[in-house]
Amino acid sequence: MIRRRKLRFLVVGAGMSGILAAIRLREAGHEDVVVLEKADRLGGTWRENRYPGLTCDVPAHAYTYSFAPNAEWSRYFAGADEIRAYFEKVAHDRDVLPLIRFNREVTDLSFGQGRWTATTRTGERFTADVVILASGVLHHPRTPDIGGLDSFAGKAMHSARWEDDVVLDGRRIGVIGCGSTGVQLICALADRASRLVHFQRSPQWIMPVVDFAYTDEERAAFRRDPALIDAIRYDPEYEGNVQRFTMGIVDPDSEAMHAIEELCRQNLEQNVADPVLREKLRPDYRAACKRLVYSPDYYARVQRPAVHVETGAIERIVPQGVRMRDGTIHELDVLALATGFHADRFIRPATVHGRNGVALDDLWAKRATAYFAITLPDFPNLFLLNGPTSPVGNFSLIDVAERQWQFVERLIGELANGNCDEICASAEAMAAYEARRLEAARGTIFASGCSSWYLDREGVPMTWPWSYQAFADAMVNPVMKDFERRATARAAD
Ligand code: NAP
Repeated sequence: MIRRRKLRFLVVGAGMSGILAAIRLREAGHEDVVVLEKADRLGGTWRENRYPGLTCDVPAHAYTYSFAPNAEWSRYFAGADEIRAYFEKVAHDRDVLPLIRFNREVTDLSFGQGRWTATTRTGERFTADVVILASGVLHHPRTPDIGGLDSFAGKAMHSARWEDDVVLDGRRIGVIGCGSTGVQLICALADRASRLVHFQRSPQWIMPVVDFAYTDEERAAFRRDPALIDAIRYDPEYEGNVQRFTMGIVDPDSEAMHAIEELCRQNLEQNVADPVLREKLRPDYRAACKRLVYSPDYYARVQRPAVHVETGAIERIVPQGVRMRDGTIHELDVLALATGFHADRFIRPATVHGRNGVALDDLWAKRATAYFAITLPDFPNLFLLNGPTSPVGNFSLIDVAERQWQFVERLIGELANGNCDEICASAEAMAAYEARRLEAARGTIFASGCSSWYLDREGVPMTWPWSYQAFADAMVNPVMKDFERRATARAAD
């Protein structure tokens, strides 16, 4: 490729996607790359979340950059510390650490005179031709709107604001929330707490999975022969499961989805002995309507003597614990709020203004979206990774980001080759994409009758509503007529 224009890049966020972007940009020979990171460490969600029991429920060898396989994973499902260390090592090995400016939270991004200016909370300004928004999805904790939280005399904390020094062993602990986080917390605390109350507003379907440790011999073999790693990463059974799962999302009546439901149902029937508890744990909506919880041991742990599943309605938090509507008080020392995230915020509350002062807040007033999850009309040269309408589900978001990068790279190529100075989806293409997406999204399993963070305020899934294969194909084949390309007279720097 003959590069005619030297481009300056800003990457917002040094989590999984931001590190990927920085590595790919450097590999492509772009020299002017700055990564702005709000915190003092990289790692994104793996830095923010440090609650006991946190693991990634995607197999470790699949939750790995394709270009940086890792022979050292200790388990099939790796823990958070290991994953954070992996990203730190990759960033170090690929020499992108010097590009990261830590403690620089972007508060505003504005486009004018053919370039972007980022302002940080520290008041610094950075300019660039291209911005990669890699600021993540699940990073604005949702505190439950339960009265009296401030009155609690013990320690209450959101799962993404975990404090390591809080004593857990032998304590009376409550966990509010039954998503992937709440379930992992229960599994980790069931044998540590003197009493563990799982406050469960809606039970979850649990997909049975098997976790295991890799032996030293296996890790040595992985080091010697990377093909062994590939055999796990590209395991036809795992890949087949992902394909079937994503087909099931798209077609709730498919055999694939019925098979998933049956697996979850059998898991419940066969592994929860007490019929009263079994009914407490039985959801009244379809499996995979909410993000499926994958757990090797939730049903075993929840039947431990210290664990009590509370399905009544919480009235309020009181100094000694949680008071239920029927008057029962669960006395607690620690209250874990596994109550999820505001998943529709993305880069916000930072303000973003595109051409002619168009505000992202206005564009996203009804719902957050982006053309093929990557670009927005009037926001030229601004590209999102894992942005709104990206595929979500029980598969690797690293794979999602790597595929999205293929699309982004193609658009960057238009700029670097001098074909245009500004590129973004046209308003017509965005509208057509979103209309088609909304129609398809309403037919997915996510819209089959439950609440979840996948849904927007109108109850429509915010997600990619087609098959994973369709996503993979779209990422390598941007429809170039859908883009508005302009030449601008750029101001001298
Ligand atoms: P979540 O899936 O949004 O679950 C939040 C839970 O809190 C739900 O059970 C919800 O109940 C409950 N809740 C919220 N407000 C409540 C209230 N006022 N009273 C009682 N219950 C309340 O959040 P999450 O578990 O943190 O998971 C979020 C996402 O993070 C996951 O879906 C996944 O994508 C990701 N994650 C991934 C992993 C992994 O291993 N890869 C691990 C953890 C998290 P309702 O269902 O009734 O609303």
